[in-house]
Parts: sequence; structure tokens; C-alpha cells
Amino acid sequence: MKYIIACIDNDLMMLDELYNKLSRIVDSDYIIESYINAEQALIGCFNDIIAGNEILITINGKNNSSLKYDEFLLELYKNSPNTKNIIFQDTIDIKSLEKVINEASVYKIIPRTLKRVDFELMILEAIKLNAQERRLKEYQKVLESAVDKRTKELNNINVKLNVLATTDSLTGVKNRRSFFESCGPMISYNRREKKSLSTLMIDIDKFKLINDNYSHKVGDEVIKLMAQTTQSLLRKSDVFGRLGGEEFGVVLPNTSLRGAKKVAEHIRSEIESLEFITSNKSKVKFTISIGVSVLTPNENDLNSLLHKADLALYEAKKNGRNRVEVYCEDIDNE
Ligand code: GH3
Ligand code: MG
Ligand code: MG
Repeated sequence: MKYIIACIDNDLMMLDELYNKLSRIVDSDYIIESYINAEQALIGCFNDIIAGNEILITINGKNNSSLKYDEFLLELYKNSPNTKNIIFQDTIDIKSLEKVINEASVYKIIPRTLKRVDFELMILEAIKLNAQERRLKEYQKVLESAVDKRTKELNNINVKLNVLATTDSLTGVKNRRSFFESCGPMISYNRREKKSLSTLMIDIDKFKLINDNYSHKVGDEVIKLMAQTTQSLLRKSDVFGRLGGEEFGVVLPNTSLRGAKKVAEHIRSEIESLEFITSNKSKVKFTISIGVSVLTPNENDLNSLLHKADLALYEAKKNGRNRVEVYCEDIDNE
């Protein structure tokens, strides 16, 4: 990319003089273009812009074309708003000047008799100013992308923190807090819409024995396998969480007692068929018991629903484990 200094004057001697003055102060990064009127200058400048060059400065001397300076500078401004436009004061009338000042931009208005050193200083000043503006823009770009990057990083950190805060670290399923947070609104919605909703309480049978017979570590692996298997058998809309130890809760929206019983039975039988192989090749088999309860019209919170499922779970344990029991009013009275 080159920086263009466009000189316009219908006096060829003037143009030569400008060229000589300018070529003393700029290096090969700059191209000094000479035009005999504004019309030619506009065509030349557009060609330069298309070629990827930047119009740094225009020096506007005498213009005899039908395209007046105000029109030229306004047109140029649309495509090159940062150009520093220097105008010889005898080449533009006050009205046009006012228009250019208001609708485009004027860097300096100078007399014909400007001393050489003042002229050189003015050009160097314009070049410097332009470079500063460019650097500022680049700096802003760098700053913006740094801010963007940092915002993305913070978002990622927040997502990670949220995952950490809502996930059980052993199994990767919802932790107790997140389970309750997710289910609360679901219960109110299903009640309001008069939709059926069921819950399951799941507990690994005789889990203490697994810890004792193998190790706590194997116990952990069994909990993990149980959780991941159960999660894979549920629908996306179901909520599944580890409520503590080897105990899990499930909320099944849009599910009747019959449907919930089927789901529970499916989970129970899949877990029964699992085998965990320890590092010394022992095969660990384990089972679960499940209690089922369903949302009734006078039910108002998850706790009472889970409590009912818990009572049914207790029944399942009492009745020999590795089984599914459904809550019925009679359980309460036992
Ligand atoms: P059941 O439920 O069939 O009545 O018998 P259980 O042996 O499973 O009964 P209980 O609920 O009393 O025992 C649960 C055991 O689970 C007690 C505790 O040491 C163990 N436990 C709780 N959390 C963890 C855990 O994160 N990892 C492991 N390995 N063991 C755990
Ligand atoms: Mg247990
Ligand atoms: Mg337990």
C-alpha cells in the first residue's frame, strides 16, 4: 500500500513546484500525483483507492473543470474520510468552503505565498497526524480484540464454574442442589398444565458390602457405572441427580404412574445385567431398588413427592431388594 499526496492545479508550473517541494520531504512510501483539475483528481483518487492505496493529502490549487472543489471534496470524503485536504485560499469561495467544512473536512486553508519551510512543516504535520490516527485505529482494533478474547475467556470460565457447581464430580450427573433447582419449576408447570409427572428414588442394594468386599474405590466405580447407565436410559427431558452416597432421584415429566413403573423396571433390569470388572479381573454384580411416586392434584412440592418415592423405596428394600415398588396411600399407614 502506498500513501498518496494528490496535487491539483491547472497551472503546470505550480504543479511542478509543488511536486519538487514535496518530493524533498517524502520517501518511496508516498506517491505524489499531479492533476490539472478536480475532475481528473477525482478519477485518479478513486483509481488509487481501488488499487488499495490511501489518499493521505490533497492540495487544492486552481481548478478549471466543471467539477467544483466542494463537489470533489465531498465525493472524496465519502470514500476517504481521513484525507487531509489543504486548500489554497484563492481557489474556493466562502459558500463552497462552508459546505466542505460542514459536510467533508478541511485540514488547512493556506495563502499562495506560504514560505517553503512553513509548507514543508505543514505537510510533515499532516503526515504525522495521519500516522497517529492510523496507529490509534490499529491500537483500538488490538484493544477490541483483546477485550473480545477476555470476554470469551470469562464466559468459558463461567460456563466451567457453572458445570462444576451443578455437577456431581464422581458421576458427572446433576448434584443434589442442581437436581432440586431443575425440578422445582418443572413441578409447578406440570401442576398448572394438569400434566402427569412421576418421580423415582433409586438406591444401590447392599452397597456397604461392595465397599467392604472390594474397596471404596471399586464402590466409587460402581456408583459411577450405575449413574451413567441410568442416565443413558432416560429421556433428555427427564431430570436425574445424585442425592447422596449411592442414592439417586429422577423426575419424569409427562409420565403417568404406569409409565414411570415401566421406566423404573427397565432401569432395574439393565443394572441387574451389568458387570463391573475390577483391576484384578473380579466381576462385581450389583442391583438397585426403586421407589415410584406420582404427582397428585393436591401435591405441592418436590419434597413430598420424593418422600413418597422414598417410602416406596423402603418397601422395595423390605420386600427383598432388586425390585420396584409404587407408592400407595397404604404405605403411609403402615
Ligand atoms: P441397602 O441400601 O440395600 O439397605 O444397603 P446399603 O449397604 O446400601 O445401605 P446404606 O445406605 O446404609 O449404605 C450405603 C453405604 O454407601 C454407606 C457408605 O459408606 C457408602 N457410601 C456413601 N457414599 C459413598 C461414595 O461416594 N463412595 C463409596 N464407595 N461409598 C459410599
Ligand atoms: Mg443402599
Ligand atoms: Mg442408601
